[in-house]
Amino acid sequence: MKKLLLPVLLLLPLPVHALTVVATLPSLAAIAKQVGGAQVQVESLTSPHQDPHYADAKPSLIVSLNRADVLVVNGLDLEVGWLPPLLLQSRNARIQKGAAGYVDASQAVRLLGVPKGPIDRAMGDVHPGGNPHFLLDPRSGARVALLVAKSFAKADPPNAATYQQNASALAASLDALAATTTAQFAQIPAERRRIVVYHDSLTYLVDWLGVKQVATLEPRPGIAPSPQHVAEVLQVIKSQNVKVIAQEEFYPKNTGKTLAGLAHGALAVLPGGADFPTETYAVHIKNVAQALRAGL
Ligand SMILES: [Zn+2]
Repeated sequence: MKKLLLPVLLLLPLPVHALTVVATLPSLAAIAKQVGGAQVQVESLTSPHQDPHYADAKPSLIVSLNRADVLVVNGLDLEVGWLPPLLLQSRNARIQKGAAGYVDASQAVRLLGVPKGPIDRAMGDVHPGGNPHFLLDPRSGARVALLVAKSFAKADPPNAATYQQNASALAASLDALAATTTAQFAQIPAERRRIVVYHDSLTYLVDWLGVKQVATLEPRPGIAPSPQHVAEVLQVIKSQNVKVIAQEEFYPKNTGKTLAGLAHGALAVLPGGADFPTETYAVHIKNVAQALRAGL
């Protein structure tokens, strides 16, 4: 059998894709794949297990970017620490900032956490355009799907209707998922819907689910928790009877574990993104909500 298989495979035509798509994050890749269907080949530059603020600028990523017709980025400076040099070295005019093949997902969503006054370095790693972690709200994912469909339609007009249909169906199902999950969380008494987070990355998640974030373990974004700050957070946990410390899987867990133990509560570790290509964005969102709910 084995001997026969190889010649047969060689005779089969290679799968032909209308578009080659690269996304910076696995959740964006999962959305792009659902919008593009069989017409597109999609690759994610990062895995759900790594912190997207500090991805490795590996040379292999330049090769991927060089071949892409469309690049989907999160935006709001989330990838500012690693993407710009890779994009420059890709020598691919189709996907440079401002080109038709450059899709900034943040332009589709309602933004939270936009700094009100002037910002400076003392405030830590603040994102000046607003909080970039909007993909943890499926209502943002829905808006991103519609934006991605527009750019695919521009890059590949013959399949425009398919992209738009796929995106509309995905957006409708994500909006429905958002509504049913909100209703589930509303059943939980309000005094239990309080959490402490590690990084300020759950802003959109708590906004969607009606959960209150009472403190962050990082004293400022990107700054590791200091003993003094942790002691202050413990006071807040005790005074507000918080039972859950929530964080994405790629942040250090020691402090959260210790505090959860002192509060007789739980550390809710959330998946860092859709496990592309095996998991859809909707399943990822369900898993995030489930992981949070289990602790409350
Ligand atoms: Zn951040």
